Amino acid sequence: MPCYRCGARQTDPVRGASPWQRGVRNESQVLICPDCQRLHDHDLDACSTCGSAALICRLGEVECRSCGAVRMARSDALTVSVPPPPGLSAEVEAALNRVLGRA
Ligand SMILES: [Zn+2]
Ligand SMILES: [Zn+2]
Repeated sequence: MPCYRCGARQTDPVRGASPWQRGVRNESQVLICPDCQRLHDHDLDACSTCGSAALICRLGEVECRSCGAVRMARSDALTVSVPPPPGLSAEVEAALNRVLGRA
């Protein structure tokens, strides 16, 4: 998974923990590269219990790694808006034309 902000690819560290930060943004898991971590304007989701941004998102739940609080991910962030069926605007236009007497 690349950095959500600049798109940089994660490289495996030679040793030790990865310097990449994990977080949750708009209900989805994101990774932040070391360069973007310095910018401090990530607009990450924060834990409603302790305010920590150290969250992990999985299976429709968001878990805080600082205090362990778990909440459901907002379902509205997961629903995909459905476009209107094709032809509707043509029907509406035809109906309007009938009403206005210019069919
Ligand atoms: Zn980045
Ligand atoms: Zn917390």
